[in-house]
Amino acid sequence: MDGIAAIAPQAASGCGDAPVLKERGQREVFCGLTGIIWLHRKIQDAFFLVVGSRTCAHLIQSAAGVMIFAEPRFATAIIDERDLAGLADCNDELDRVVTRLLQRRPEIKLLFLVGSCPSEVIKLDLSRAAQRLSRQMSPAVRVLNYSGSGIETTFTQGEDACLASLVPELPVAADDAPADLLVVGALADVVEDQMRRLFSAMGIERVSFLPPRRSGDLPAISPNTKMLLAQPFLAETGRMLEERGVTRLAAPFPLGIEGTTLWLQAAAKAFAVPQSTFDSAIAAPARRGSEAVAKVREQMAGKSIFMFPDSQLEIPLARFLARELDMKLIEIGTPYLHRQHLASELDMLPAGTMLSEGQDVERQLDRCRDAKPDLTVCGLGLANPLEAEGLATKWSIELLFTPIQGFDQAADLAELFARPLVRRAKLRV
Ligand code: SF4
Repeated sequence: MDGIAAIAPQAASGCGDAPVLKERGQREVFCGLTGIIWLHRKIQDAFFLVVGSRTCAHLIQSAAGVMIFAEPRFATAIIDERDLAGLADCNDELDRVVTRLLQRRPEIKLLFLVGSCPSEVIKLDLSRAAQRLSRQMSPAVRVLNYSGSGIETTFTQGEDACLASLVPELPVAADDAPADLLVVGALADVVEDQMRRLFSAMGIERVSFLPPRRSGDLPAISPNTKMLLAQPFLAETGRMLEERGVTRLAAPFPLGIEGTTLWLQAAAKAFAVPQSTFDSAIAAPARRGSEAVAKVREQMAGKSIFMFPDSQLEIPLARFLARELDMKLIEIGTPYLHRQHLASELDMLPAGTMLSEGQDVERQLDRCRDAKPDLTVCGLGLANPLEAEGLATKWSIELLFTPIQGFDQAADLAELFARPLVRRAKLRV
């Protein structure tokens, strides 16, 4: 690995102060319930009970699709017409459903009551319900709540809301506990294991992850805790952790070789890891990753890309695609722009990149059609119509279901963008 200085962010040429087109029109996004699909695989003794309608049940069942096996760890308690008309006591019914569920599934240690549009419309107070049920079920089961409602949210906010609900539950570390590192954001287990090995090679051994794999392993925090955000959509979780005294380490996100290097380097600096130790810890995986990404770059260099706002991963992805695959960024949309958490990313985007926040879907579709990008990244609802119009598309939600962070996944991430173009080229032959 060449010196890290070679890939340091160059603020002067970035988009830190660039103007952003703000749109507040009709939006095409999934709701926060979608996060259950990857979160239930991560916290292995948790259960997600959506308190919602048949629509909510259909959404998570179809999003989970093939992943449903014998005993799924999510379900929907359906609010029906009697509940909506105020003819039934929803709290009594909810208590009955939860009691039955926990009797049948004694392995559940953490139960999330997940709010939805219908539960919000009838003003069902799930936080009181969670407190009541937690008292009844304690200590065997902890009951928490968060909202996955689609009103004014986007789908990755479901993870933010879920992790934020865990923050008050995190134990307090002893005052004299040595500094430790908290990685915040759901990562695939394989990625988490790789990161842990890399931190260990740097000499950083006191590392924990939020969410943990088991609910009993909630990490203890203190003002000595330093956090690295692993996902760019954790505004509320980050804010609550900072309120509890945790220090956020500013860094780009661990996507691509460059992002991963700088993300790890932020921890190395905070824990005073010698540069030579850092360089040797990352040398082999970074080199392997760079070589694999270079093969994909041959196919992607010069290709243009347009991103609709959907996952909130758009800005870090655009930075990776522009700087490591030499792609041309036409418009990068994001549902929300958290300037603080994305500061390093914005500095690294090519100057002049068109950024948009929020959505007015018809106008954005017009801009996309005019630009005729080689590849369009968007939600499922827009992908099929755009394909029918002749544009190659990539579903942004796939990026949340696939391990994409870290050195060893960088080429897989690049491949995800290359695949639709390769498929199209084959179909044309
Ligand atoms: S929470 Fe709202 S947006 Fe999401 S599936 Fe249920 S009704 Fe639809």
